Amino acid sequence: MKYVDEYRDAALVHKLAAAISRVTTRPWTIMEICGGQTHAIVKFGLDDLLPRNITLVHGPGCPVCVTSADLIDQAVELALQHGVILCSFGDMLRVPGNGIDLLTAKARGGDVRIVYSPLDAVTIALEHPAKPVVFFAVGFETTAPANALAVLRAEREHVQNFSILTSHVLVPPAMRAILGSPDNRVQGFLAAGHVCTIMGTQEYGPIAREFGAPIIITGFEPVDILEGILLCVMQLETGRVGVENAYARAVRSEGNVHARRIVETVFEICDRDWRGIGVIPQSGLAVRPTYAAYDAARRFPLAKSCGNCASECISGEIMRGVKKPHDCPAFGTRCSPEHPLGAPMVSSEGACAAYYRYRSRALETVPA
Ligand code: SF4
Repeated sequence: MKYVDEYRDAALVHKLAAAISRVTTRPWTIMEICGGQTHAIVKFGLDDLLPRNITLVHGPGCPVCVTSADLIDQAVELALQHGVILCSFGDMLRVPGNGIDLLTAKARGGDVRIVYSPLDAVTIALEHPAKPVVFFAVGFETTAPANALAVLRAEREHVQNFSILTSHVLVPPAMRAILGSPDNRVQGFLAAGHVCTIMGTQEYGPIAREFGAPIIITGFEPVDILEGILLCVMQLETGRVGVENAYARAVRSEGNVHARRIVETVFEICDRDWRGIGVIPQSGLAVRPTYAAYDAARRFPLAKSCGNCASECISGEIMRGVKKPHDCPAFGTRCSPEHPLGAPMVSSEGACAAYYRYRSRALETVPA
């Protein structure tokens, strides 16, 4: 395929892996932020090509995985108790909340519909003017522009029965939280290239300097990822710290200015509860009061937080890079894609799902 095959070129992959081996003299732990990068690493066995003293750990960049159980409970409540048509991307339907998941809510009579765009939910609202329609707006900076556009379209077309239940999260505050935690082992980051196509690269310099951690803006194909690791190791080995863009074919330092402006019009920054991790200050997006009419959290009397579900799921430790999926006692036994105990086993971007799919018999763990 044009523009993909060249980034999966085997000769180039092995050349980059050899270059990483040549420059590595000490153990380093590097975190890839995005679940898409995690899946590429596990699917293509990229970590097996690295020297043994490079450890890759998997970050919190799977939006489904970090959406709090409380918000899933609220989505279920909307579907079952408020007569709402609840629209969602399909991968949210089997994520456990504190009680039931959205698929069970649908089986119990809730009008839960899978859509492929938030604009589809606006169309559904136009088709059913007598019914409230809520879109479950989950995601990072990457999906925020489309969700903001849905609100702006609803306003422009006077769609009064449409609103969004927002669970937007932001990458840089999560990186700060990981680097600042007492048990942190991450020494460098592969930042998520698609987030940077929207937001640019300028937020990362202060984080790299404050924590002494290189940050490499990285894409999603094998060549992209190995190039990101090589640049990261070169910085770590030489004691340099900075931000480098290894995804220049898609990312400009200022990002997508138009998309950012749309996001800033509709959303404001708020504290956000990350599933398994806890509340990270200033790490989410909430609907601005100006657009309160499109904010499901304001329109409906939803139950307040009762805390994320007590569970044997260790997803928080996995997403902070402290553990890997095989360290979870439930992995592949009590927890599987058919019977998930936690979101990372459900989502197509979850680390546990990647390990289950591509290497469920391997025994890799984070070295002590
Ligand atoms: S294997 Fe299941 S229970 Fe364990 S961390 Fe992953 S999602 Fe959670």
